[in-house]
Amino acid sequence: MVIAGGCYCGEIRYEVEGMQEAAFQCHCRECQYITGGNANIVVVFAEKDFRYTKGVPSTFARSDLETPVKRHFCSTCGTGIGTRSPSRPDSMIVKVGTLDHPRDYEAKAAIFTCDKQAYHYISDDIPSFDKRPPKK
Ligand SMILES: [Zn+2]
Ligand SMILES: [Zn+2]
Repeated sequence: MVIAGGCYCGEIRYEVEGMQEAAFQCHCRECQYITGGNANIVVVFAEKDFRYTKGVPSTFARSDLETPVKRHFCSTCGTGIGTRSPSRPDSMIVKVGTLDHPRDYEAKAAIFTCDKQAYHYISDDIPSFDKRPPKK
């Protein structure tokens, strides 16, 4: 199955060929900046299954953090595409809002609810974790 997506202006396009590894919503304070206030809702794919098919994203990583994530975004329209994280070195973490069919995905867990705001929504049907879920 090929899953496609891209940024708001269309300059960046990507495809994923493979199954999702995880899907979650992150309520951490950093994600609130990146989304504009809400939780970040993401689906995780294997890095090898993900490729850009149009355009080259800009990237940003904070230099003041020891193990920062690298954020991919469109330098024209500003859409955040996804993130490479040192905690998931073989994965590409994709923001569901950039998928062509975001309706096909749902978060399976809420993480970093320690930073959750009162106006964030978490479904009663998914588990919540104060920080990250315990490693299996
Ligand atoms: Zn764009
Ligand atoms: Zn977060």
